[in-house]
Amino acid sequence: MTIDHDAAMGPAAADLAAIEQEWPLIAADLDLLDAEIAMLYAADDGGPTALDWRRLRRAESRVTRAAAEVAARPAHVCNLIEVRLTTDCRYGCKILACRVCGGEQVSHRAVYGCPAGQNATPRVA
Ligand SMILES: [Zn+2]
Ligand SMILES: [Zn+2]
Repeated sequence: MTIDHDAAMGPAAADLAAIEQEWPLIAADLDLLDAEIAMLYAADDGGPTALDWRRLRRAESRVTRAAAEVAARPAHVCNLIEVRLTTDCRYGCKILACRVCGGEQVSHRAVYGCPAGQNATPRVA
């Protein structure tokens, strides 16, 4: 059971996890910005050279690759916290929300006498 441990993480930790997930894309975006700024300076300085154009195209294709890479990654491990009781069942089961992606899921628990929980988690002897 990792929920208690995860609940100790502050919001800052969740932000960091989100940034880590997106980082290749953020870094590629920053490089593209650099290349675009270099193009602007080059325009003042006799026009961008073939090298400037190449740098820009490379930065653009890096952003495309990074976006695909980030999208193709396995989903992060959700950092779930209990947010409220579910209205789906009458056993006091909880709705958990992920602090990274904002996704919500219902946690039916057999300990509350919930049949859905008994089906979901077979008893361990
Ligand atoms: Zn999540
Ligand atoms: Zn339930």
